[in-house]
Amino acid sequence: MKERNTITLTIDGEAIDAPKDATIQQVLETINKPAPIICYHEATTSEGICRQCVVEVEGWRVLAPACVTKVNDGMVIFTNSDRVNRSRRTILEMLNASVDLSESPELQGQMDQFDADRERFPQAKTRAQDVKDDNPFFVRDYEKCLMCWRCVQACGDDIQYTYSISVGGRGFESKISTFFDSSMPETTCVFCGNCVAVCPTNALKGKTEYFMELGLDYDQIRQEKRKERKKNGDG
Ligand code: SF4
Repeated sequence: MKERNTITLTIDGEAIDAPKDATIQQVLETINKPAPIICYHEATTSEGICRQCVVEVEGWRVLAPACVTKVNDGMVIFTNSDRVNRSRRTILEMLNASVDLSESPELQGQMDQFDADRERFPQAKTRAQDVKDDNPFFVRDYEKCLMCWRCVQACGDDIQYTYSISVGGRGFESKISTFFDSSMPETTCVFCGNCVAVCPTNALKGKTEYFMELGLDYDQIRQEKRKERKKNGDG
């Protein structure tokens, strides 16, 4: 007999027993079929922002984001239908048209998996902008930012409770920013590095890595860092 806290659903034709309060993604993980994700990270809360984890639920008008949709008894789910794959492919193509994803193995892998056309929207407006280099620890290259929100969550309630970054602007002009666009040292940032650790695209990058990519050697990097510490009054 089925336990009271267990439901049965069908995933790609296979009957699966699952805890009744689980999300679709949690159940997919137990059967080794996790949906692809962009905004979700194991250290941050699922918010259903990117819509890349969508699955098709029989009888539902719209695709369901697996990371935030709870399973129901009798649900019939398709994870690999044409509709699901077309949606995931289009999201990737639109992101790739406006954001520099060249340093994101996660996103490059998904584009290969879903056969995304990297040239589909050649006229798209891009998010090209200068790198923000205003502190000794990391740079912010928002040309590579796909607004997944992971860094904001890591800086806030999910890890650090520092709240130095948030979202500013509207529509296409929306961006990850500090209050009043201040430099990082002027914010509440404690330079914990959690935002850098969860960023999927290298939009946030440690300073040493950044300098190495600019071609600086070990001694030059040390000199640069010493200069920055002096500028910030730290030595
Ligand atoms: S900076 Fe990175 S972690 Fe933050 S929203 Fe942009 S892509 Fe996501």
